[in-house]
Amino acid sequence: MAAFGTVFMPKMTLATYENEHWSPARLVNSDAIQLHPGAHVLHYASTCFEGLKAFKHSDDSINIFRMDQNIERMAQSSQLLSLPPIDKQLLKQMIIDVVREHIHQVPAPPGSMYIRPTHIGTEPAIGKAAHPTNSSMLYILLSPVGDYFSGGIKPLKLLIEENGSRCAAHMGMIKSGGNYASALGPILAAHSEYQADQVLFCPDGDVQETGAANFLLIDGNEIITKSLDSSFLHGITRDSILTLARDSGMTVSERELSVDELIERAEKRECEAALSGTAAVLTPVGTLIRDGQQVTVGNGQGGPTTQRLRESLNAIQWGEQADSHNWLTRI
Ligand code: PMP
Repeated sequence: MAAFGTVFMPKMTLATYENEHWSPARLVNSDAIQLHPGAHVLHYASTCFEGLKAFKHSDDSINIFRMDQNIERMAQSSQLLSLPPIDKQLLKQMIIDVVREHIHQVPAPPGSMYIRPTHIGTEPAIGKAAHPTNSSMLYILLSPVGDYFSGGIKPLKLLIEENGSRCAAHMGMIKSGGNYASALGPILAAHSEYQADQVLFCPDGDVQETGAANFLLIDGNEIITKSLDSSFLHGITRDSILTLARDSGMTVSERELSVDELIERAEKRECEAALSGTAAVLTPVGTLIRDGQQVTVGNGQGGPTTQRLRESLNAIQWGEQADSHNWLTRI
């Protein structure tokens, strides 16, 4: 199977914003766009994106998971970056239309169709370093994905980074390209120096998130994770897992978590930690590295609660369990 996100469906839906209006969406080839070299996005990073999935059920229906939440987040990212306002109805229809166009190519579970809405500032205006773009382009790419866990579940090793940040504090909740570029330096250093899979960004000891997933600490019947603020991405998987945890009688504590408390709890035998995200679903964390010292989380192998919550999320996504929260849109 090709690496995640490297295979694209041949068509995408595309709309443009100009003179304060969105054009109707068009279905176009997905291998090229035309962009002026002076486009605002290429100089001043006026861009945001989303990531969500469509799932195929055993009755052959295609179901998109929590589409409205992703649309809301994209509208918010666009607003916070002073990009033109998202027309939510248009975006929804563009997502549905492009998935419908490739409806026979949606992989069956454990695979899915990954959906990548992208919004970029297109105005050719390099003088607008401190001004927003007047024009933009919105397009929806599709990439079929296989089983994230096909090689077996390998608990992750995370390097705790207490000095640097993933991105500027007020930018964390925005799903914008610049945030990912700014996190790469520490991530590459963690790979080469510690063979860590990911960096857990904890500026000044505040446990936030990794480069592409949220962090959950599972201590017995309690899940502890940072409460929502502007410093990190408000993951839709995070929200789904917390909802399923509450449904199953667990206590969910959304609050500040310090690295000191994390390490103290992680060393307990029954403790688990996990990363949540559209791609990762819920992946166990086996090891934390702090100041060069390795700390094993619980038994180091991931635990039963992580597995149970991942399976109940998958069961809803795959149509094996009732969708009691109305998270799926059947198209
Ligand atoms: N944090 C970051 C930085 C991410 O890139 C992602 C993936 N979108 C997440 C958290 C998880 O978000 P979601 O569950 O909505 O995929």
